[in-house]
Amino acid sequence: MSQLKNKLPPDLLKSLHQVKGFDEKAFIEMHTSGNQVTSIRLNPAKHATFSILHPTLQRVPWSTEGYYLTERPSFTLDPLFHAGVYYVQEASSMFLEQALRQTADLNQPLRILDLCAAPGGKSTLIQSLISEDSLLVSNEVNKSRVNILAENLTKWGAGNVVVTNNQPKDFQRLKEFFDVMVVDAPCSGSGLFRKDVDAIDHWSLDSVEMCARRQKDILADALDALKRDGILIYSTCSYSISENEEIAEWLVGLGYASLPLQVENDWGIVETLSTNVSAKGYRFYPDKIKGEGFFISAFRKTSGDQSDSRPPKNKLQSASPKELLIASEFIEVKDLHFVKWGEHILALTSGVFSTLSLLQSALYVKKGGVNVGSVIREEMIPHHELAMSNWLTKVPAIHVDESTALNFLRRKDIQIESYARGWVLVKYKDTALGWIKNMGNRMNNYYPKEWRILNK
Ligand code: SAM
Repeated sequence: MSQLKNKLPPDLLKSLHQVKGFDEKAFIEMHTSGNQVTSIRLNPAKHATFSILHPTLQRVPWSTEGYYLTERPSFTLDPLFHAGVYYVQEASSMFLEQALRQTADLNQPLRILDLCAAPGGKSTLIQSLISEDSLLVSNEVNKSRVNILAENLTKWGAGNVVVTNNQPKDFQRLKEFFDVMVVDAPCSGSGLFRKDVDAIDHWSLDSVEMCARRQKDILADALDALKRDGILIYSTCSYSISENEEIAEWLVGLGYASLPLQVENDWGIVETLSTNVSAKGYRFYPDKIKGEGFFISAFRKTSGDQSDSRPPKNKLQSASPKELLIASEFIEVKDLHFVKWGEHILALTSGVFSTLSLLQSALYVKKGGVNVGSVIREEMIPHHELAMSNWLTKVPAIHVDESTALNFLRRKDIQIESYARGWVLVKYKDTALGWIKNMGNRMNNYYPKEWRILNK
C-alpha cells in the first residue's frame, strides 16, 4: 500500500491545496491505509430474504436503501445479485437520492433523462425513486456499455424505462422534453483511485483539462432537451476544480440557477462555492465520509420554454386481442399498454406508451418497457424481461436451493421434481431467476446465454 502513497499524483495533491475540505495528510493516509468500503443498494421493488444482509449492518446515512457490507462477498455467486435484488454501488453516489428528492417533486409523473448512464448505478437508483407513470430515458453513448446498462435495468425489473444508445447532441431533437436531466459525466476519475489503483497511471493535468472540455461539450449539446424550470443534476467522481466548481460556474453563466442541497452536519459532506458566482457544489472526501471521492451539484434551468409543443404522435401497433388473451396468462394487464415490437409484445406504462414513438423517431431505442415475449402458433414464449419484472401473474414456479440456482444461472441442465409442465419460473428465496420449459422428461433452460455465469 505504501506503493499507492508514492503513486498519488503530486500535481493532483498540489492542485487541491486551496480546495475547501481538502486535508492532504488525512487524504493520503486514507489512500494508503488499505481500507476498502463495499456498499449495496436494495431494490425496493423486489422483496427477498437477503442472504448477504444482516440486521446489524450499517446504513448509508443519505440513502433509504443503501447499506455498508463488512466484507466484499463474491457477488457472482449470489443468485440474488443476478435477480436484481440489490445493486453494488459506491456509497457517495447514492447521494443522488437527496439531490433528486430535494429539487424535484417525485410524486408527479416526470420525464427524466440519465444522459451518461452505463453501467446503470444512477439509473437503477432513479428508477426506484420515481412514480410508475414517470418515464426514465437511460442513455449510453458507448455501443458495448449500453448492453450492460440494458442488462442491469432488466434485472432491476424496471418497466418505466427506455434505454437509448445516442450521442448527447442527438437529444437536441427533443427540445424542452425532460423535467429532470442527470449528467454523471465521464471524468478524470481521481475519486476512484482508492478502488482502482491502475487509474492513477492515466491521470494527468492535461487529461483533467480534456475532461473539463468534454463535460462542457456534453452539457452544451444536451441541455436544449431540458424544459424551462427543469432540474439539472451534474456529478463527477473527480476532485479537480475544473471538472466540478468551474463547470458549475460556467452553468450559472449560461443562465442556470444553482440550487442548495441540505446536508446533515454529521454526514461529513463539504459544501463548496465557485469563485465568482458562488455556485454550490457538494464534495465527498474518503477521509471524511465512508465512500469514494464524488462531486454533485444541482441547477434549475431559467430559459427556454416550459414544455414541448409537439403534438402527440403514436405510431405504435397494438397487440391483437388474441395475443393479449394469451399474454394475460403471464402478465397483469391492468393499466398497461401492449404493443408489437417486431415479433415481440411489449408491456408499457402510460409514460412510456405516450412517448415511445417520438423517442424512436429521434433516438436509437435499445429497449423500452417490458418485453413480454412472442406468441408463436398460439403459444406464448415468455421473455426473460418478463421474469424479471413485477408484473407477472401467478405462473407455475419451482423453488430451488442455492446450488441448483447457480447451475440454472450457469445455463446448465437442471432436473427437479415438478408437476407443472410447460413454462415454469425458477425461484430462489422467493425471487424469480428466469424460465425453464418443463417437457416432462427434461427441462430446457432459458436463462439468457450472454448473461450466464462463466468459469465458476
Ligand atoms: N452514471 C453511471 C453509473 O452511475 O453507473 C456511470 C457513468 S460514467 C461516470 C460516464 C459514462 O459516460 C460512461 O459510461 C461513458 O461511456 C460515457 N461517456 C463517455 N464519453 C461520453 C460522451 N462524449 N458523451 C456522453 N457520454 C459519454
